[in-house]
Amino acid sequence: MDISVVIPVYNEEENVEPLVGEIAAALSALGKSYEVVLVDDGSKDGTFAKLKALRTNFPMLKVIRLKRNFGQTAAMAAGLAGAQGAVVILMDGDAQNDPADIPAMLAKLDEGYDLVAGWRFNRQDPFINRRLPSMIANRLISFTTHVKLHDYGCTLKAMRGEVAKDLRLYGEMHRFIPAIAYERGARIAEMKVNHRPRLRGISKYGITRTLRVVLDLLTVKFLSSYSTRPSHVFGPIGLASGFLGFLIGFYLSVQKLFYGQDIGGRPLLLLGILLIFIGFQFVTMGLLGEMLARTYHESQDRPVYVVGEILDGRVAI
Ligand code: UDP
Ligand code: MG
Repeated sequence: MDISVVIPVYNEEENVEPLVGEIAAALSALGKSYEVVLVDDGSKDGTFAKLKALRTNFPMLKVIRLKRNFGQTAAMAAGLAGAQGAVVILMDGDAQNDPADIPAMLAKLDEGYDLVAGWRFNRQDPFINRRLPSMIANRLISFTTHVKLHDYGCTLKAMRGEVAKDLRLYGEMHRFIPAIAYERGARIAEMKVNHRPRLRGISKYGITRTLRVVLDLLTVKFLSSYSTRPSHVFGPIGLASGFLGFLIGFYLSVQKLFYGQDIGGRPLLLLGILLIFIGFQFVTMGLLGEMLARTYHESQDRPVYVVGEILDGRVAI
């Protein structure tokens, strides 16, 4: 299988048929083998029945129905697990992404990239509750993860099958896929893609998504930079706080012992004690984190590195 197109759909009964038609038109011209993996994320409308019916005309459709609504990221993960293509395309099921962009993305991938992310430069969504928060989020994510992209929210992406299989997606992490892939060593490119207004069905998200994105960013940053060395996050804070607390305690002791001053009622004393306590807590939290990190990595049976290739005179690997 050359190409898998993975699409999560939730209550998109009017969209699936036109979408599948567009994908077939865009891909059949390429002369490559392909499948379209549609994951019905527990839709409550007729989406699944539509998908089932579509299979008679489009045998390359693979339909996975989840038992309930698990959310876009989980649905994507289900689709990625079921995808067999050497290249995997991710896109939305609301027909806002344009399948006509796929051939150009494949060409870009062939230039030597592992993942090509779409950039909806003419994004057709409302400004205040969509484009503005997304602009801020993109800056923040680019700055924090060092993977500079204009549009983390664009689902349309092309990536190599190995990259797709290597992703572990949780919560609402799908928008961080380029950053997660980069952390695993993937070469990332960005490409302008077409974007269209939502013509049928309604958006599944509101403005509250922005807050969750910020929290997810913390997780991604922490996991990508420190998951193998958590005590390097907590340790320095703990040491600094403890040291400051010690200095305060030392200063107050000198005041008391050599100058006979009353220190019992001084706010500084409280601060000193607080800082020492916080210091201890952060350092021990770091150590606990180290233990958790070992359990985490060893239980996953997943090395802390990713091998690109091995040159060995005797065995070809
Ligand atoms: N989606 C999903 N499960 C959900 C919510 C959304 O599979 O719980 C799908 C939805 O059907 C669509 C894609 O995720 O194919 C993006 O959703 P939407 O278009 O509502 O998001 P927006 O483009 O408004 O950010
Ligand atoms: Mg949409």
